[in-house]
Amino acid sequence: FEAAEIEEGPLGYMVEDRHLYAAFLAAMRAEPGITHLPATTVTAQEAGPAGIAVTLSDGRRLAGRVLAGCDGRQSGTAQRAGIGRTGWGYGQAALVCAVAHERPHGGIAHQFFMSSGPLAILPLTGNRSSIVWSEAEAEAKAIAALGDEDFLAVLRPRFGDFLGPVTLAGKRFSYPLNLTLANAYVGPRVALVGDAAHGVHPIAGQGLNLGFRDVGALAEVLVEAHRRGEDIGAAEVLERYQRWRRFDSTLLALGMDAVNRLFSNDNPILRAARDLGMGAVGTVPGLRRAFIRQAAGLAGTPPKLLRGVGL
Ligand SMILES: Cc1cc2nc3c(=O)[nH]c(=O)nc-3n(C[C@H](O)[C@H](O)[C@H](O)COP(=O)(O)OP(=O)(O)OC[C@H]3O[C@@H](n4cnc5c(N)ncnc54)[C@H](O)[C@@H]3O)c2cc1C
Repeated sequence: FEAAEIEEGPLGYMVEDRHLYAAFLAAMRAEPGITHLPATTVTAQEAGPAGIAVTLSDGRRLAGRVLAGCDGRQSGTAQRAGIGRTGWGYGQAALVCAVAHERPHGGIAHQFFMSSGPLAILPLTGNRSSIVWSEAEAEAKAIAALGDEDFLAVLRPRFGDFLGPVTLAGKRFSYPLNLTLANAYVGPRVALVGDAAHGVHPIAGQGLNLGFRDVGALAEVLVEAHRRGEDIGAAEVLERYQRWRRFDSTLLALGMDAVNRLFSNDNPILRAARDLGMGAVGTVPGLRRAFIRQAAGLAGTPPKLLRGVGL
């Protein structure tokens, strides 16, 4: 896929997590409305007709009209609101690290589809890339336990030599992969955001982007409701957020699930089907553009904040 095929510019930007954390923390510290940093753990929540309150691990209580649950795949906010989850494990784990290589990557992201799982090579600054390497769980555990040199010896034949010799450029991490969708995105005075609502396979690197769309949509819905004089935690207000986001995220989660299943195996019939499908995507310009727009987060109606428009 070429960025030149769409008018809006690059397909995306790769930003290292540590830079995002630092920028978000600095922005939160500069915002007088945000208190209680660094955060303590939320241990309880209680919704009533006029508001919702949470109890922190240090015993303090915070109250408001609505509680946004942004607490990840095992969301306690969802559990305490009685919202169940649907999902399954992939029997895969992702090995993640940064690597340095001799040749420049030219700003090109690569994804190699292997029967045990995909290997993504994502361009960072300089001659560095981030890899997200999905493997069957037992294999991933064994590879994660290797020393750095042995790890590289297993990685190199998969990575290939198109970027020249490869070395490690940071710590290695391993994450179990699963799909987990909240059965509802809203509950009494509660809205779920990000992985708390939808934990997806990282095959297309869309997890955080989906979360940003949730944040933009929830902010827009709440601000509009406030301007109209509505109670921002009312069920009909939160329902607007759910209607906006749930279908889009579920569709993407199941799409990524299907792509992972289709590519993470050696079945000759599926191999023929996917070659045919990739051939079609590659040669039909309309289809290719549709894929590019979806991957770049330009499909559908992005919330105002994601279009750079103020609320
Ligand atoms: C291997 C891998 C690679 C990925 N690559 C990409 C990528 O390239 N691009 C992309 O867009 N996405 C990617 N993702 C997905 C992305 O990491 C997640 O979608 C994103 O981190 C979700 O953010 P979140 O804030 O919703 O949840 P989380 O990052 O899970 O954060 C939840 C936070 O809530 C806190 N918390 C939980 N319970 C409590 C409590 N009781 N009290 C207080 N705090 C609490 C946790 O400590 C945590 O800090 C990847 C994921 C994986 C596993």
